[in-house]
Amino acid sequence: MGMYRILQGVMKYRHTQREVMVRQFEVVRDDPHPKAVFFTCMDSRMLPTRFTQTNVGDMFIVRNAGNLVPHANLCGHEEITTEPAALELGCVINGIKHVIVCGHSDCKAMNMLHMMRNSDRTLQEMLKLSPLKAWLMRHGHSSAGKFAQLELSNFQAPLVFQAETPMRRFIAYIDPDNKFSEEDKLSQVNTLQQLQNIASYNFMRDGLTRGRVYIHALWFDIYTGDIYYFSRQQKMFVDVNENNMEKLEEEVLKYYT
Ligand SMILES: [Zn+2]
Repeated sequence: MGMYRILQGVMKYRHTQREVMVRQFEVVRDDPHPKAVFFTCMDSRMLPTRFTQTNVGDMFIVRNAGNLVPHANLCGHEEITTEPAALELGCVINGIKHVIVCGHSDCKAMNMLHMMRNSDRTLQEMLKLSPLKAWLMRHGHSSAGKFAQLELSNFQAPLVFQAETPMRRFIAYIDPDNKFSEEDKLSQVNTLQQLQNIASYNFMRDGLTRGRVYIHALWFDIYTGDIYYFSRQQKMFVDVNENNMEKLEEEVLKYYT
């Protein structure tokens, strides 16, 4: 049934979307202007081109379990992952200016990371048990560490993250209205932690220090469909809605154009 449904979808696409898209592909081929490298979770509910209303040619999208970007220190010569390769393809080769990490609520990967955050198993043991758990342990470790700081303060104290450069630190109050579960708070922390990881690559440094590349965080609330943008000015994830848009617009136009 599953594969039949997919083939039916392909047939429907042939009859409805194909022609329009081929014309869009031609425009992009002749005059590409990609706007963002977008890291998000592989979760089937995440449809980034729909909730950002972007189109052919707009975004390079990288998806994995938990929207993790491995830190440069964890990608030595023996370990190669796709995320830094995607950053290079997007920001260095194609000159993309904005990198966005988008997490979400009820993230199965983050729920799992939350559950195993105090586990005393080694990475080797985890690798034998489950590649997913090993991936989360290896690359979610720093997020779990930040979450532990938050937990220690009873979810009150702000956290400090690094953005484009070590000097560009920002402060984040995680879920100050206490609307979300612990797992969702971890997901928000994890989303911000990836900005630091993105900035850890040498090949990104030049663009990041010269203001040719900026990094941002979004968070999608799957329960309500609301999208939050992390405002460094307001030091928290702010719901992108009619009430907040003016202030957010001012911030992104002032700092990130
Ligand atoms: Zn997820």
